[in-house]
Amino acid sequence: MPDDIVEQVAKARLEQHDWNYGFVMDGYPASQAQAEFFLESYDVDGVILLEVPDTLIIERLSNFRVCKACGLDYNLIAHRPKEDEICEVCGGTLIQRSTDTPDVIRDRIRDYHNKSEPVIDIFRRKELVVAIDGTKPPAEVSALICAELAL
Ligand SMILES: [Zn+2]
Repeated sequence: MPDDIVEQVAKARLEQHDWNYGFVMDGYPASQAQAEFFLESYDVDGVILLEVPDTLIIERLSNFRVCKACGLDYNLIAHRPKEDEICEVCGGTLIQRSTDTPDVIRDRIRDYHNKSEPVIDIFRRKELVVAIDGTKPPAEVSALICAELAL
């Protein structure tokens, strides 16, 4: 999506001011232009960088399945259905998204690194980046984020 449209959407949303205690942006800013706009427009307390080795991302995503009928997601490592490829809730068939095959995942990761590293560098220069070990369980990751940002 073009930077000017993303900028307008972010601006319009944040102008609603329903975020007295702050807000978290996920996956934004995604380009150098968006990062510069964001830094000029808002006070940024911190940038959370969840660090997960590419090999683990490939493993996690290639074990991701979604129910074709109800949309519930499964991870064949952490949340395996009782019956192979069958949704425990609705009995629907579990499928692998076309974006989650190893070759496509590798392309997505390469694309992510190419686009996000220049953005992360902008925030690093401002000493805003807090790197968190994203390989830990969710509750531990959450606690690490709170501790690093003194929340
Ligand atoms: Zn289902």
